[in-house]
Amino acid sequence: MSGDFIDLQSDTQTRPTDGMREAIANAEVGDEQRGEDPSVNRLCARVADLLGKEAAVFLPSGCMCNNIAILVHCRAGDAIILDQYAHIVTTEAGAMAALAGVMPATVAGERGVFSPEQVVAAIRPKKRNLPRSRLVSIEQTANLAGGTVWPLATVEAVGEAAHEHGLLVHMDGARLFNAVAATGDSAKDYSAPCDSVWIDLSKGLGCPVGGVLAGTADFIEEAWLWKHRLGGAMRQAGILAAAGLYALDHHVERLAEDNRNMRLFAEKLVGVPGIAVEPDTVESNIAFLDVSATGLAAAAFSEELVARGVRIGAQEPDRLRALAHLDVTRDQVLQAAQIVAGLARELVSR
Ligand SMILES: *Cc1c(COP(=O)(O)O)cnc(C)c1O
Repeated sequence: MSGDFIDLQSDTQTRPTDGMREAIANAEVGDEQRGEDPSVNRLCARVADLLGKEAAVFLPSGCMCNNIAILVHCRAGDAIILDQYAHIVTTEAGAMAALAGVMPATVAGERGVFSPEQVVAAIRPKKRNLPRSRLVSIEQTANLAGGTVWPLATVEAVGEAAHEHGLLVHMDGARLFNAVAATGDSAKDYSAPCDSVWIDLSKGLGCPVGGVLAGTADFIEEAWLWKHRLGGAMRQAGILAAAGLYALDHHVERLAEDNRNMRLFAEKLVGVPGIAVEPDTVESNIAFLDVSATGLAAAAFSEELVARGVRIGAQEPDRLRALAHLDVTRDQVLQAAQIVAGLARELVSR
């Protein structure tokens, strides 16, 4: 809980726990950009190992992980095949175009998950007047498309189709560990079909800052060039990496709890007048609620909720997006569901 309300707006709203703060305080540090920060080096080795990759690099944000992966994999004019709701397309300030000069070739996935057939259909043939299809990007979990978990078999099939056609595969793994918690499939298996993959430390893992991008040693060497160019090379970043190491020890297993809490939240809202929600589609820590039948737009509904002590953001005109995380307990999630239901009932009976 942050501030005076139950905050389901985002899993970025977590504050470092006492244990994490202690790890930060005790961090061994050095000059990160010279490769002399032991905590950063440990974090990178650990994430590379978890994801089954040769190497990894610590970056200030998940967005920079995406940006750098795109900059390394693509040349200006290339096309990236990805879902229409992908964070890279919708929520990164146009970085793919502004920084890399690449263009999106969006596909309409099934709640963010697309098929190998869709990939193949989106690939432009090799012709002088066509954009070069270069990269396929998979978002695990598919955030704005519904918190959907990409099944391992689909990741593998999409990876195979892409590679067969000479394309590379990137995974925006901002919530990869939520998917791992949901399915029991390993982060390594999810990453195996991908040429690059990253995890976010500042979402469900509960760290204040950071993402870790992994791939081949050559890929990471090139990524370092862009890290410097973009101003992402740091100094005593071990105080941040220590939080990441702490999170990998203490906050990975518990993501299953967030997934369960969000499903519970959705279940409690089934049948509430004015609210449309499908608990079966709540596969991870994200749920969407359609509140249009209450007569209020999502943004106005969201404001009313804040006045009642619950923060849930409006994602679209009709829909709210709620996320469970480390800083909200099961009881608070249940309490939030009651408050949402109470507001909806009031609105509908007006
Ligand atoms: C949050 C998020 C990002 C960006 O991560 P930051 O650490 O906030 O920069 C990228 N992709 C997805 C799917 C996200 O949810």
